[in-house]
Amino acid sequence: MAGSMLRQVGRIGRAVTLGGLLALMPMAAHAQSIIRDAEIERALQELASPIFRVAGLPQSTRVIIINDSSMNAFVADARHIFIHSGLLMRLEDPDQVQSVLAHEAAHIANGHLTSRPAAAASAQTAARMGLLLALAAGAASGEGGAAIGLAAGGMSSAQRSLLAHTRAEEASADQSALRYMVSAGIDPTAMLEVLDLFRGQEALSVGRQDPYVRSHPLTRDRYRTVQAFLATQGAGPEPSASSAYWYARLNAKLSAFLRNPSWTLRRIDRNDTGEIATLMRAIAYHRTPDPDRALSEVGRLLQMRPNDPFYQELQGQILFESRRYDAAISAYGRAVDLAPREALILAGYGRALLAPDTSGNNARALQVLTRAQARDPFDPRMLRDLALAYARAGQPGLAATVTAERYAVLRRMDDAAALANRAIALLPQGSPGWIRAQDVLRVAEAAQRRR
Ligand SMILES: [Zn+2]
Repeated sequence: MAGSMLRQVGRIGRAVTLGGLLALMPMAAHAQSIIRDAEIERALQELASPIFRVAGLPQSTRVIIINDSSMNAFVADARHIFIHSGLLMRLEDPDQVQSVLAHEAAHIANGHLTSRPAAAASAQTAARMGLLLALAAGAASGEGGAAIGLAAGGMSSAQRSLLAHTRAEEASADQSALRYMVSAGIDPTAMLEVLDLFRGQEALSVGRQDPYVRSHPLTRDRYRTVQAFLATQGAGPEPSASSAYWYARLNAKLSAFLRNPSWTLRRIDRNDTGEIATLMRAIAYHRTPDPDRALSEVGRLLQMRPNDPFYQELQGQILFESRRYDAAISAYGRAVDLAPREALILAGYGRALLAPDTSGNNARALQVLTRAQARDPFDPRMLRDLALAYARAGQPGLAATVTAERYAVLRRMDDAAALANRAIALLPQGSPGWIRAQDVLRVAEAAQRRR
């Protein structure tokens, strides 16, 4: 992928930016990364919430998108469901997404996460997932230091649990998932449609299978069982208006940011002035790049929904990335007013406030980025911006602490240790920044010992 949406994060991975803030977290050995975007996360919550309710899972259970074009979905602990962007983009309606979530939720609810010896391939995946889990757990805890502490523990728990499920587990997860869907008023036929995507893959060599077929084996047996269940059911309900709407936004945003913009523009009907087509055109023009056209499409979105924080955020992103910094600050400011607790939008606002020709905003930037960090401490771009704001404010000790935290998130443990030591030398002993630097140092040294 080319264009302004890609940027280097550290030296080991690449970051895509969706929604201003789709920060991709690079994994240790591979450039696999997670997709962070406030609008997409809002949409996923809409789809997952009824499933979690009937499955008895807490609403704080998180659905995390991995930027990977292969099809897979899996659970690695009781609090996170992972789904590949490749699978999400192949699914065709909200029911299908919900059937995948229901199956994974059932693996959690039915206790299929007990430790088993890991297959070699799973162990490798699990090692890469360690950081992801740490990131997600840390974001949930909201405590920078504590969250970094969890980073060290992420790996072994992932290694235990990220494995292929057994035949019995697949059967039980399917039965539960079908029940969840019926209870939540979702058409269970969608589960069969999803299994159709994997039909025939069992006969392929492992290298040609989608990873889903390995993590959830026996597709043919599952297919027959689900078919038998559906034979006893009448026609399912239509998706709710709200599910359909948020699914359409999720799909539009993911697709327009991950696919080639000219492909997107060719695919949308020129005369379609509806909200979803307008959203896709705005993103595709932005990535062309054609900021004027992108902004005029976003203007139309904001006429349709003047109080939508995600459209305000998108306007801010387009303005920022086309270097119209003052206007970007205004747009992000409106987005923050509409969604003051949204860490990813706060981070975008802070970044705009730090822009080169907007001097005099550093104190405001520092305040905004500190709020973003408190709500979600694992966004490396936000951490880089926050360190810059501390440095400009004449606080090199705190700049070093935050940079140490960023290196720890990026798994650059030697750099993390060096910066943590610098922070410890600069900051008053026992101060909050000093304590956080000590946390990073402990995690970095433990990681260095394991090598
Ligand atoms: Zn399964």
